[in-house]
Amino acid sequence: MIRTGQQYIDSIRDGRMVYINGERVRDVPSHPMFKPLVDIRARIYDMQHDAATRDIMSYSDPVTGEICAVGNKLPYTQDDWHAKRRATDAVLDDVGGVVTRVGDETVGEMWSLYDGQDVLNEVDPQFSANIKRHIDRTIQADPFHVSANTDPKGDRSKRPQDQDPDMLLHVVKETDAGIVVRGAKYETAAAYANQAFTKPTIANWGDSQLSDYAVGFICDLGSPNLKFICRTGFAGRAPIEDYPLSNRFDEVDTLVIFDDVLIPWENVLFYRHTRAATFIRATLHRYSAFAFVQRNIKLADMMIGAALLNARQTGLDKQQAVQEKLATLAVYREGINAHLTASIAMAERSPAGLLMPNQSLLFTGRVAACSQLHEMMHIARELCGGQICVTPDAAAFKHPETAPWLEKFYSVNENWVADDRRKLLAFARDMLNSDYAGHRLTFQLFAQSPPFAHLAAVYRNYDWDAAAATVVKSAGLSERVLGRAPAAAPAPAPTKASA
Ligand SMILES: Cc1cc2nc3c(=O)[nH]c(=O)nc-3n(C[C@H](O)[C@H](O)[C@H](O)COP(=O)(O)OP(=O)(O)OC[C@H]3O[C@@H](n4cnc5c(N)ncnc54)[C@H](O)[C@@H]3O)c2cc1C
Repeated sequence: MIRTGQQYIDSIRDGRMVYINGERVRDVPSHPMFKPLVDIRARIYDMQHDAATRDIMSYSDPVTGEICAVGNKLPYTQDDWHAKRRATDAVLDDVGGVVTRVGDETVGEMWSLYDGQDVLNEVDPQFSANIKRHIDRTIQADPFHVSANTDPKGDRSKRPQDQDPDMLLHVVKETDAGIVVRGAKYETAAAYANQAFTKPTIANWGDSQLSDYAVGFICDLGSPNLKFICRTGFAGRAPIEDYPLSNRFDEVDTLVIFDDVLIPWENVLFYRHTRAATFIRATLHRYSAFAFVQRNIKLADMMIGAALLNARQTGLDKQQAVQEKLATLAVYREGINAHLTASIAMAERSPAGLLMPNQSLLFTGRVAACSQLHEMMHIARELCGGQICVTPDAAAFKHPETAPWLEKFYSVNENWVADDRRKLLAFARDMLNSDYAGHRLTFQLFAQSPPFAHLAAVYRNYDWDAAAATVVKSAGLSERVLGRAPAAAPAPAPTKASA
């Protein structure tokens, strides 16, 4: 089943307690700071029905015959991955910008736990049945699914038990109906989503096999006793003509408070067993990193486009030094493209029989995309020139006393008139210099865990033995250094004495 945009909008009108900028939000979908993103999410649902896009966005489930969302489909083949990539590109093209936490980038976290059914079975077979049922339910019910990992954490030099225990989300009570949890999580988009896969952040469990903090579940975001305290949105702070991205693409982040929230047993995916929590932390992004990294390509396209148009507009694209900087942006963009494309071409079978993008290529691609983004933004900023931060706002281009001057100094030639130049500079400013721009950069730095965890994923997935074996052979080392018994030496030729 695929929902419509209106069904989604109705589903978040459930009386949830949302706060932003010191205000209790009475109606999330129509609030000016949420409306732009709610409308985009609704548009994604409607694209699944729209004749122009439905074949890209949806598929017919071979078992049920139902039409379902491509983003939620379990990946078994390379074609499944090509279809997912195409659907995400269609969304980003349609909305004309980058939105990340809109579902396709988070749903894959559940597939990672599906791969861990052996681990869950050791804990309680009920839990492995729960993850399977939730994956099926997501395919059938098409909810807007987000991700919850990060607690406020408190003082990391102390154990959670030795400080306010709520600094990490934990179980306070078991009941016949389920577990009761307490704590808080940072979650982008939670205030306007339907459910979140909630699990521990990276933690050092030491030798403990059991912990009240090792808990993972699907949280219905309409549950009683949840409170959503949002950071102030970027939309509506300044006119859309001056901040075209801030006003349309801000994905509002939320501190979700769990004030003794009941999680029904059927939504509990693991509980108390640190092995299950460790498993999910180690494998969490094996699928979802694909859609996350894909966003960097769109961002790179936007940076290249703005820098190129600015250079062409002023005739600077003829300069070799400018061409080299544009080429550096293209190398960045195509490097990410190559990692993603190759990760499908060299995909790997997962323990549960799904098809994972090649893990080493995916995770090295994520590091290439995220760790160089700030440098690429700086190159694009440089190519756009200082005018991106000194240009007056649209109102000055309209005021009768200032408009003629701005018309004169911002018209470059017959193709580039003042209005287009102002629009390009405003777009570039919002993408590279604004509060929103800094937020987006920080999102790519942290939202799929911080850089050290990205490198840890590379460390876990790179084939170190192949490199070591190359040196063993080339340098003539004994295979003992690889922990292998040396190959049996050829039998010596018979000598006269032994013959
Ligand atoms: C815009 C944005 C959106 C986000 N959206 C979500 C979301 O939707 N869901 C969600 O769950 N989370 C989300 N996050 C949170 C994100 O996952 C965390 O910010 C991230 O995991 C880092 O945790 P922290 O902020 O508590 O930093 P800290 O844990 O305080 O770490 C700060 C820095 O300390 C260093 N450090 C800490 N621990 C280690 C270690 N073990 N080894 C080496 N270095 C270390 C690193 O340099 C690290 O970057 C979002 C964050 C941002 C900025």
